[in-house]
Amino acid sequence: MKRCLICGKDCKSGAGLAAHHRRAHPDFRGKNRRAIEGMIAEMERQERINVLDCARLQVLRSLADQLDIDPSNAQMWKTYNEAIEALVVTNDDDDDAFTKLLEAVNSRAPVGDKTQT
Ligand SMILES: [Zn+2]
Repeated sequence: MKRCLICGKDCKSGAGLAAHHRRAHPDFRGKNRRAIEGMIAEMERQERINVLDCARLQVLRSLADQLDIDPSNAQMWKTYNEAIEALVVTNDDDDDAFTKLLEAVNSRAPVGDKTQT
């Protein structure tokens, strides 16, 4: 049995609970979902979200929702943590952005700086 954490209704399975949630609590946002939205907003602010990440973000949101509905799923927690790690690590290792920044700095340096040449 899976019990709904909001209204206490007992459902036969995880799938039944998910279906109940969609029907009875369509606007529900649990603490994992709110946490992930906060993280995504911060990454967007830092412009660290790229096109590839959009698919990852959908997976993350979906996992967060499922964990908020049923936090007892250990395997899903593992998947969720790996998904977060993948997103953060991928974006931290951004050589391309660093290279572009260096190029921009180098291309500007000679202008108006004749004293050092
Ligand atoms: Zn319920």
